[in-house]
Amino acid sequence: MQEIRCGQCFRKLGQGRYTHLVIKCPRCGALNDLRATRPELERQRASITQTEHEGKPIFKKQ
Ligand SMILES: [Zn+2]
Repeated sequence: MQEIRCGQCFRKLGQGRYTHLVIKCPRCGALNDLRATRPELERQRASITQTEHEGKPIFKKQ
């Protein structure tokens, strides 16, 4: 589980799992727009795109 904290005053707002969460801090009133980043998935998608691009059978005859 992740702790969800205000980006401005670092007050703990809650905890749990999220992919995208918008929460207003009751202490300082800052609107926190939180997105879970998953770098391992981003890298995987990037490598797949690269493979598709580079693996294009340009001279392949069928
Ligand atoms: Zn705050």
